[in-house]
Amino acid sequence: MAFRASILSLYPEMFPGPLGTSLAGRALERGDWDLELHQIRDHATDRHRSVDDTPAGGGAGMVLRADILALAIDAASPAGDPRPRLLMSPRGRPLDQGRVRELAQSPGAVIVCGRFEGVDQRVIEARDLEEVSIGDYILSGGELAAMVLLDAVIRLLPGVMGNAESGAFESFETGLLEHPHYTRPREFEGAGIPEVLTSGDHARIDRWRREEAERLTRERRPDLWQRHTGE
Ligand code: SAH
Repeated sequence: MAFRASILSLYPEMFPGPLGTSLAGRALERGDWDLELHQIRDHATDRHRSVDDTPAGGGAGMVLRADILALAIDAASPAGDPRPRLLMSPRGRPLDQGRVRELAQSPGAVIVCGRFEGVDQRVIEARDLEEVSIGDYILSGGELAAMVLLDAVIRLLPGVMGNAESGAFESFETGLLEHPHYTRPREFEGAGIPEVLTSGDHARIDRWRREEAERLTRERRPDLWQRHTGE
């Protein structure tokens, strides 16, 4: 069965957006994944269809109401739905390739996109939402974050990536950043291609690539390097 993504948002018209093009878009057309959109506002209960209210305790901004969001979640993901329920949130666990790989193996995901100052804490607990962050910066809403997550997941779904191998040797899959790439022309503005890459000696090429990956990781991401070497 295809991976089923259910999005809960106040701006569902933002989807599929960039996920409608290229790799993800073709996969959507083929039915390698399904996209279901839910307008949170459809579950508002008052005349003004309001979904947010002022924060308890005072302060700036608005907060998404627990009751309205719970109704939307229950409609999109009834009890017994095996899919994880995610809430895009700067307070969440930072998304990494390991979690992306796990998600690609699940039957899909229910993704709540926050807006305003965020959502009422009680709905996070009552509906067991897993908070997921895409990095230490603040977006104006969860929609772009959900697209980032989905893009990373979709490319790993069976049948999506043409070259089955190209998923396995990328940055992070090995715990290292990737080695540099070169292609034609052989000379560009006076700069050549490292001699080893044109040598045809595959053992040497593999060694060079591994060494470059290690060097880049050590220089740029001491945190990853430390984990890789287990120091
Ligand atoms: N007041 C909140 C930020 C709210 S931003 C705080 O300081 O933590 C509004 C919404 O955008 C959030 O509810 C969340 O859904 C989304 N969002 C913002 N930054 C994000 C990030 N880095 N990762 C994932 N979602 C994010």
